[in-house]
Amino acid sequence: YSEVEDGRFFVFLRDIEERKRAEKQIEYMAYYDVLTGLPNRMLLLDRLNQAVAHAHRYRNMLAVCYLDLDGFKPVNDRHGHHVGDELLITVSEYLKAVVREGDTLARIGGDEFVILLTSVTSLPDCEDAVRRILDAIHKPIEVMGHRIHMSASIGITVYPTDNSNADRLLRNADQAMYKAKEAGKSRYWIFDPIRDTYLHTHRQILSEFEAALHNDELVLFYQPRIDLTSGQMISAEALIRWNYPGKGALLPGAFLPSISETPKELELGEWVVKRALDQHMEWRQQGLHVPVSVNISPRQIQLEGFADYLAKLLPQYPDGTANNLELEFLETFSVANTSEVARVMQRCVELGIKFSLDDFGTGYSSLTYFHRLPIHTLKIDQNFVSQMLTDASDLDIVEGVVRLSETLRRPIVAEGVESVEIGLMLLQLGCQYAQGYGIAHPMPAEQLPQWISEWSQTNVWAQLHNERAENGIPIALNVATFAHRRWLKALEQYIRQEPEAECPPLDDDQCQFARWYRGTGKSRYGRRPGFDGLREVHEALHTEAKSLVFLCESGRRGEAEGKLASLRDQSREFTRLIRSLID
Ligand code: C2E
Ligand code: CA
Ligand code: CA
Repeated sequence: YSEVEDGRFFVFLRDIEERKRAEKQIEYMAYYDVLTGLPNRMLLLDRLNQAVAHAHRYRNMLAVCYLDLDGFKPVNDRHGHHVGDELLITVSEYLKAVVREGDTLARIGGDEFVILLTSVTSLPDCEDAVRRILDAIHKPIEVMGHRIHMSASIGITVYPTDNSNADRLLRNADQAMYKAKEAGKSRYWIFDPIRDTYLHTHRQILSEFEAALHNDELVLFYQPRIDLTSGQMISAEALIRWNYPGKGALLPGAFLPSISETPKELELGEWVVKRALDQHMEWRQQGLHVPVSVNISPRQIQLEGFADYLAKLLPQYPDGTANNLELEFLETFSVANTSEVARVMQRCVELGIKFSLDDFGTGYSSLTYFHRLPIHTLKIDQNFVSQMLTDASDLDIVEGVVRLSETLRRPIVAEGVESVEIGLMLLQLGCQYAQGYGIAHPMPAEQLPQWISEWSQTNVWAQLHNERAENGIPIALNVATFAHRRWLKALEQYIRQEPEAECPPLDDDQCQFARWYRGTGKSRYGRRPGFDGLREVHEALHTEAKSLVFLCESGRRGEAEGKLASLRDQSREFTRLIRSLID
């Protein structure tokens, strides 16, 4: 072009070159990190997309490693940006040296790097590679006359175990990197997709729960607690339900775990106490006296703030309201260790509140508990109670706990009383208070008044009580005769073919009386004259019952019915013997 005199051509061409270079520069800056020359986030995502597609097609493994230098910021602050920049360049050189061909190393932010490992074939293989990377960095680095000790934390996620898209993979690796930092730095952490889904639903529930608290979606159900010796309701336990739109009432097990250990847990605890007290007042206006029991989380009674809250709340109610509030807490290991708990509880007690220890028998409580903490009542866990008639070891536990409560002079409440039989057995053992499906299921507050009025007319416990009042006999014996009469009644109904009648146990060691005889009966009255004789009479009754049932089964029902009268006489004689045993 030298022949061109005018020179305009020349300028034009130089212009093109310049532009091309500029474009290249711009392109470079769009895809590469200027400081280290490594691919940047943009190029990384592009490569990651390709790598995922490739791994999907060829069923290969792909590991995304998110690396963050530990303590880079202090170095930067102390020695200045020049040193920081040099350090980053050196680190990237070290990394390049250990990354295999085909893998991608990128710098995607200040001190954050990502390595795509495409050549790994197994998790151990991948961990080896990551350890090499950590080792490469974990050594003193000389930068501009400074000797700097470096380390890094790496989060890893592995495709296809983590079957996510490129964007998500990067985020999951990032999240795992934070776990590595939390775990103490200079280490790696592998993302667990199963755990993540789990955490995700927890988070989901938590965020919906926040709204529920303010949208009146939470309600308290109440389960009556009765005195087995009189049949009277003595209080009601508040149990939370979540009226989840479209799903009905969710049980606490479905959502409490998700809010446990979060601030919402504490907010809920305060809400429940206030709601239960308001309900107590509403009932009071209807002329009903219903003390309330509220469950609180173990964390709550370690917080001074909870006592503060109660101290502020209670004066809003009439004097003495606190005496109608009981807090149920679970025995947990943390509770045993903290003196804060004792302090917070003591403050509550000074306000007039009582405490019961929930689910007793399942936790870690030691007897020293009872000296250190103001516990008024023990609650035996429902799992022991509901199985105590079918599982001998559960019966042993219940009996042991009852004895223990006598020693500690604490009243005991049995939960999980699913039948009258269980309640009878508890009475025999000496347990006075009970709640459970056999008495009432938890119910909305509005239903409680109606339940109370029906209950006072129909419950067997009150009948038992009245009978005892008339005859003035001790409860254990009364239970024995009561159990026997129920057996006889069932037998009569069966022989007369009354609807839904079921044959009671025919073996003389299977019935309710037999349980009493072997257990409480033996330990309390076993030495008295007449105790041994009871067995023979009882056996004779059962033999007679067997023969009546045999008559029915061989088509001679009329004959059996005719013999019922003499069985009744036998039974009367039997109960007379029981009573004379105690006189
Ligand atoms: P819990 O305090 O041991 O409450 C007794 C649980 O047993 C309740 O379950 C109740 O409905 C159930 N239950 C009652 N009678 C029987 C029975 O005869 N048989 C059987 N199998 N179960 C019976 P729910 O309502 O699902 O509550 C579960 C747990 O959730 C409660 O156990 C309590 O620890 C917790 N909880 C409930 N409400 C609250 C609350 O407001 N705050 C806190 N922190 N925890 C609560
Ligand atoms: Ca409870
Ligand atoms: Ca329980």
